[in-house]
Amino acid sequence: MSQETVAFTGRRVLLDSASEPGPATIYVDGAGRVARIEPEHRPAGAALDAGDRLLMPGVVDAHVHINQPGRTQWEGVVTASHAAAAGGVTTIIDMPLNCIPSTVTVAAYEQKRASFADGMWVDVGTWGGVVPGNAGDLVPMLEAGARGFKCFLCDSGVAEFPPVDEAQLRAAMAELATKGGRLLFHAEVDTGAAADAARDPTEYATFLHSRPPAMEVAAIDLVVRMCREFAPRVPCHIVHLSAADALPAIRAAKAEGLPLTVETCFHYLTISAEDVPPRSTEYKCCPPIRGDANRDALWAAVLDGTIDMVVSDHSPCTPDLKLHPCCAGALRPGATEGDFVSAWGGIASVGIGLPLLWTEGARRGLRLQDVVRLVSEATAAHAGLAARKGRIAVGLDADFVVWAPDAENRITADKLHFRNKLTPYRERSCLGLVHQTVVRGAVVYDASKPDPDDRFSAQSHGQWIGSEY
Ligand SMILES: [Zn+2]
Repeated sequence: MSQETVAFTGRRVLLDSASEPGPATIYVDGAGRVARIEPEHRPAGAALDAGDRLLMPGVVDAHVHINQPGRTQWEGVVTASHAAAAGGVTTIIDMPLNCIPSTVTVAAYEQKRASFADGMWVDVGTWGGVVPGNAGDLVPMLEAGARGFKCFLCDSGVAEFPPVDEAQLRAAMAELATKGGRLLFHAEVDTGAAADAARDPTEYATFLHSRPPAMEVAAIDLVVRMCREFAPRVPCHIVHLSAADALPAIRAAKAEGLPLTVETCFHYLTISAEDVPPRSTEYKCCPPIRGDANRDALWAAVLDGTIDMVVSDHSPCTPDLKLHPCCAGALRPGATEGDFVSAWGGIASVGIGLPLLWTEGARRGLRLQDVVRLVSEATAAHAGLAARKGRIAVGLDADFVVWAPDAENRITADKLHFRNKLTPYRERSCLGLVHQTVVRGAVVYDASKPDPDDRFSAQSHGQWIGSEY
């Protein structure tokens, strides 16, 4: 039995999505788990007094590309986990691609785990990948600690992570069925759409028309079919849904009782295609950010529960690969500055989602409890971590964010802690300021420190989320 060591207290503590904010003091044991919760504000002797700020479960971002090992000029575990910590994110789950090697074997999984000893400021786990021919690697990876697996149904953008066809998918799912392993789908298929060479590639619409909603709709029809074939043994998940046209098929699949979950991203909910300026390739991602009416329909699906969770899909690269006007001098010969069609697709945003979601959501009827459900509880459960993370409850990890949801916040460059600072959110104004982030009872980020260099804990308190979870 571990000793009680620290207390966290406040007048507005939100324990989970079914509670109301109220006074509470949370006692945390030496192992970083919640030992006891008293419904009173007790500042005397507390390690942290949130006062009138909101103290709630830390954000679990289940979709982040850390790119380590192999592409650390794009991102790395230290910078990604600093960015997470600064934004109230206490757990990130890395994607199996864009790092080299791709996380598609136990050896690659172990290589990533060893490489992350560089320093994790929050807890970090990883998804594995399904690629042609690795069905036999899946159960061993699951046993090693992979949270589940991701696959592509179209080109992934990197050669080391090829897509799977239906036969390969079936072979993988038969393996996963033996253990109840979860399968995540990048749900776009090639429908023959392509960018019109006659149109200006520096206009966002040129790229948008090359990735029509039909690509997602066709893929999701396949996902639903495969999900039904293996139900209930292989829970299926659609990553980064953008096309509202796919919502009827998702609603029908859920009504049928299929084990299907869906995520969307902060950018699909907070940005519309109409707002993307020419040549601003920091807005490019796949599937694309679509029009205003599409965004309204996604919000309706968030509010009615069709969309289960919201994640960042943080996927940065170096500015030259973005063909961004900011580094026009460094572009490779023949490249067009601001070319949406040729630029790398991916939006950098880990750690800045909470205020963005809240600012847009609050005016659409989203409650703070919904925020907890969408970014903490549902994402923790999705990553197989419901017994440890996503809520504040006795026995669970003491992962908290202390923030002021009503405070004005401008996302200035000094607040961006990921490696490459190109992001559509730069200089954006929103509501919600993170003050402290706590990982298993340790304060890993504290904005009240006057010197920016002191705001992150000197030690990295994050742990690898492996098979023991
Ligand atoms: Zn992604």
